[in-house]
Amino acid sequence: MIQKKYIQLLFIVLLILISGCSNNIHIHNQNDIDVDELISKMTLEEKIDFIGGYKGYNIRGYKHLGIPEAYLADGPVGIRNFGKATAFPASINLAASWDKELAFNIGKAIGGEARSKNIHVMLGPGFNIYRLPLCGRNFEYLGEDPFLAGQLAKEYTIGMQSEKMIATAKHYVANNQEFNRHHCSSDMDERTLHEIYLPAFKTVVQEGSVASVMTSYNLINGIHASEHDYLVNNILKEDWGFEGFVVSDWVSTYNGVACYNGGLDLEMPSGKMMSPETLIPAIKAGQLDESILDDKVRRILSVYHRFGLFENPDRSKGYSFDHEFARQTSLAAARGGMVLLKNRDQILPLQADNINSIAIIGPNGHPAVTGGGGSSTVEPRYPLSLVDAIKQTTDNKLDIIFEKGIFTGVEFPEGIFNDFDFYVYDDGKQLKGVNVDFFKGKTLSGESIYSGFYSKLALVNEDMWNKPDVPETDFSARFTCYYTPNETGHYCIGVSGDDGYRLLIDDTNVLELWRDQGDTRAKYECFLNAGQEYKVVIEYYQAGGDARLRLGVKKTVMDILPDQYPSRAIEAAKNSDLVIMAVGFNASLEGEAFDRTFEMPYDQSNLINSISEVNDNIIVVLNAGGNVEMESWIDNVNALLMAWYPGQEGNLAAAEILFGETNPSGKLPISFEHHIEDNPTYEYYFDHDNDNQVFYGEGIFLGYRHWDKSPEKPRFPFGFGLSYTEFEYEKIKTDNSTYTIDDNVLVSVQVKNIGDRYGEEIVQLYVSDNESSLPRPIKELKAFDKVQLQPGEDKTVQFILDKDSFSFYNPKSHSWEVESGTFEILIGSSSVDIKQRVMITVI
Ligand code: BGC
Repeated sequence: MIQKKYIQLLFIVLLILISGCSNNIHIHNQNDIDVDELISKMTLEEKIDFIGGYKGYNIRGYKHLGIPEAYLADGPVGIRNFGKATAFPASINLAASWDKELAFNIGKAIGGEARSKNIHVMLGPGFNIYRLPLCGRNFEYLGEDPFLAGQLAKEYTIGMQSEKMIATAKHYVANNQEFNRHHCSSDMDERTLHEIYLPAFKTVVQEGSVASVMTSYNLINGIHASEHDYLVNNILKEDWGFEGFVVSDWVSTYNGVACYNGGLDLEMPSGKMMSPETLIPAIKAGQLDESILDDKVRRILSVYHRFGLFENPDRSKGYSFDHEFARQTSLAAARGGMVLLKNRDQILPLQADNINSIAIIGPNGHPAVTGGGGSSTVEPRYPLSLVDAIKQTTDNKLDIIFEKGIFTGVEFPEGIFNDFDFYVYDDGKQLKGVNVDFFKGKTLSGESIYSGFYSKLALVNEDMWNKPDVPETDFSARFTCYYTPNETGHYCIGVSGDDGYRLLIDDTNVLELWRDQGDTRAKYECFLNAGQEYKVVIEYYQAGGDARLRLGVKKTVMDILPDQYPSRAIEAAKNSDLVIMAVGFNASLEGEAFDRTFEMPYDQSNLINSISEVNDNIIVVLNAGGNVEMESWIDNVNALLMAWYPGQEGNLAAAEILFGETNPSGKLPISFEHHIEDNPTYEYYFDHDNDNQVFYGEGIFLGYRHWDKSPEKPRFPFGFGLSYTEFEYEKIKTDNSTYTIDDNVLVSVQVKNIGDRYGEEIVQLYVSDNESSLPRPIKELKAFDKVQLQPGEDKTVQFILDKDSFSFYNPKSHSWEVESGTFEILIGSSSVDIKQRVMITVI
């Protein structure tokens, strides 16, 4: 009996020993994980493969080591790449809300939704500084002020990471234009870099504990961001103590060794430069230090450990996502971020009881415009157009007519990609489908690496990658097929692709979006004859990330002929009590990888003016990521609501503001110039001599830092926004009048709602250095708060300023310094409307 027990015990001990010796690691508890032990078990090849992504958006997992595969997805305003998701307002709208709690909630809601989709890493927040309205991605960022951007990005990050979702701060750094973004160097002096472009990142790293940072496409002072030893190793990792991992932007790496030594930890979308071919021989020959590789792997694995990925690799498991919270947060964000810029004769809020008819005119009235274009595009769960939102808000009681006013082409036909009506010839017989030739590189040149056939052109990633010799990135393909319509008429040929494509009909190039881009659709409209055969060719290239391509054709029915649009709109305006103009840009006119115009497209300014000739009550609702040309029309309209890109619920917020259900409370996070040429960066934005260098000659004087000292004034200043109520500021106080450099300064001010309706006021605190050894901006934003006030209510708002609020970067000492002397603390309702001021002395 006893012997049997001993044998059983021996057996169990043996089992434990055997499993301990095996390489299989079973993780039951996060605390079981010893990252260094894991690294010691990885082969050199495994470590190198680990620091290069695969399948477009993933980081490899190693089952035998218990390392899960991780999925990355775009941000920052909702989730791309995983089907429908809650679409939040553009980040510039968040900046215009100046609302930290909202920023936290947005981060939390997106983080939660990402978990429910089993995503491990979200690629957001994004907060590059706004210089000129033309930058195609301004809408994805948080405005012109580093302090405002830093505070909001920090809260967003904390909110997202509170859901155990890894956030990624992007794009590090000075990614302030979209033209030539892979090759252009953002050149600036050291002080400008430290005072304007770095601070928001520092805040998000040090106060937001962001787990990942993405480098930018551009170069900085001649060095690619992904290889920037000074910015990544010295500043980010050493000076700021960043412990997370640094990921490259997609296909923005150029030299494996430079990336390796320059601090890049993860190359996306694949290990093209930090490849085994480059790294293994160099490491073996002792030219590259393997401990640097271990540090990269350690950083990624430590983040996995911090966020519980080992224990719970399926992020959705046991997680219940609060859809309603996400929806309400999206709506709250739009309400809080819209900015009322003009309200002549208090035309707003509209009184539905006094109105019978409204004409909504403009291309953005319907269908819903929710976001800008590119990698931040979210397919909204519940898109609501301005027309539908106004009908909903007015309980369908008013006579509402919608006219686009301008022919912008036919609508993209619904369901165009459902059927595939193209064919090829197979042994002389027609066969539904398309022939393809794949090539290495993006130029469709050299020998084809694979030729084949698809029964339809609706390809996603593996459909292309699984062909022999076709890599995941850096290839091109030519698809050839034919189409013969049964009926004569107007047709739309639709293409959608990630990345570049062009469409050729009968060997003529008719549509070209030959650029790196997320899945972007476009159409070619044409007149086709029944029975005539047309040759259709699509040329395509894949730069990185997803590889997608679709083709479809549909006969279109035009209810309205192109030249009837303006006359119908004028007729509608004549017969209505008032006109709401829904104008601006949309996802195909403002987005990633290209810059936009200052003028609104399709001559919409002219449309506003012609409508204003027949109706005196004009309200403009504008969609854009920043300022647009207004000089030609603004005097002809009574009201202007800056609606940015409002997300899926945002048009409801706009309607509520128009009809007074919501009191507008957003304020500009950027300055609106009269003319684009007035902007201090204008002269320094373009690469005039085509040398791939842009020198930021405006230095630290951008946005209000420029306007404050300029005799010219902006049309609408930084921090400006109207409300339906009024606020009074009183009793500014500091807890002392003289401070040492290390003291905190406590400032308080009383704000009162002196109007007769509920409102929210953004209280802005600026610091002005009366005398300094280096030229400084007249004032700089150092604190802000958004207060909610019932009519007649007052609140005391308190701010704590520390030495960062008074310091400037001295390039001589390469550090931040505070000089003793007098400083003025200014509190106002915008950067030009200072209500209270107090002087303090720093000794
Ligand atoms: C964008 C990034 C994005 C990445 C992955 C790039 O084109 O610049 O912001 O996260 O694509 O989609």
